[in-house]
Amino acid sequence: MLEIKDVKETKSGFEGVLSHPSFQDHEQVVFCYDKATGLKAIIAIHDTTLGPALGGTRMWNYATEAEAVNDVLRLSRGMTYKAAISGLKLGGGKAVIIGDSKSQKTPELFRKYGQFVESLGGRYITAEDVGTSTSDMVFVRESTKHVTGLPENLGGGGDPSPVTAFGVFMGMKASALEFWGNDTVKGKRVMVQGAGHVGQNLIRQLSEEGAIVYVSDINQDQVTAMVNQYGAIRVEIGAVYDQEVDIYAPCALGATLNTENIQRLQCSIVAGAANNQLAEESLHGQMLKEKGILWAPDFLINAGGLINVYSELQGYDRDSAMGQARKIYDTTLEILRKAKSENTTTIAAAKTIAEDRIAAVRAVKA
Ligand code: NAD
Repeated sequence: MLEIKDVKETKSGFEGVLSHPSFQDHEQVVFCYDKATGLKAIIAIHDTTLGPALGGTRMWNYATEAEAVNDVLRLSRGMTYKAAISGLKLGGGKAVIIGDSKSQKTPELFRKYGQFVESLGGRYITAEDVGTSTSDMVFVRESTKHVTGLPENLGGGGDPSPVTAFGVFMGMKASALEFWGNDTVKGKRVMVQGAGHVGQNLIRQLSEEGAIVYVSDINQDQVTAMVNQYGAIRVEIGAVYDQEVDIYAPCALGATLNTENIQRLQCSIVAGAANNQLAEESLHGQMLKEKGILWAPDFLINAGGLINVYSELQGYDRDSAMGQARKIYDTTLEILRKAKSENTTTIAAAKTIAEDRIAAVRAVKA
């Protein structure tokens, strides 16, 4: 997470939101408050050039309101890149609800939140995220049609994790092709950090293709399940970055690619589902490059979840969502080859492609 340098909380609110380092040409930032339900939310619309801004609603007990502002600005911008690089007709947006998702959720709070989303007239489309679930979106839907990520019995796509894991697998295979000249992971040693919704699906695909899977999770029961089901090798939490493996797949936390961990890494490729893997984009993108480690941009290869909710907007079809996620393979190759030919980092190459797509559409619209 970026440092909060410029947002100061005062009795009258925030100072410096527009000059905050995470504020980067955002189109609109909406503060939502409702006394009766206790709702405190912030909706950030970063860019709608390619289409309505889509991004989930995160519910988190932020230590300060400034931290919530920082998070929503950073996350919404990331969604712009994710949609653009995935070739979706969507812009980037995100929302945060300030509160404890375990104790402060009520149907009324989500209905009220839905009214705020509705007031934006479709410029922002919401969905589930950390701290919210498809069942919460059912209450949001009572107040707005601009919501996706609904349960399957309501025509939604349900759990997006299998699509996300498939996209990660495609990105990993494309990286393998670029690095070793062959896209199979058969016989490759893959360290999967986090055996949650995405990690478990990824481990299944890896083991079906004959990879040697290493797994680590703070939840030892989930590790045991992977050991028993797929013959995965258990790795202690603290030993993940020191493993002699071919591929490291971060599927738990963001920002694991920091200076200390990169120095420890012994792999050739990093390809995983976690968001914001680089602690600092340019510094750690460059460190990986200098160490000869190929990093598959997270916001591209984990876009399966976004692809899944996008499919829902058009009448959900799992096969077409999977078909769209399969394209992550080609886009990953395009980025890796561009980075190589221009002697730049993969993050820089990916961002350039996304920015060029947005600029081209903006020029047509102007
Ligand atoms: P999840 O909560 O189901 O799984 C995360 C797992 O990581 C849990 O099992 C947790 O115990 C484990 N974990 C937490 N801290 C850990 C640590 N220090 N070391 C090892 N394991 C640890 O989440 P998920 O849906 O599987 O998502 C995984 C990651 O991918 C997250 O960063 C998420 O933001 C990102 N992501 C998910 C999707 C999706 O469709 N679910 C889409 C895009 C990105």
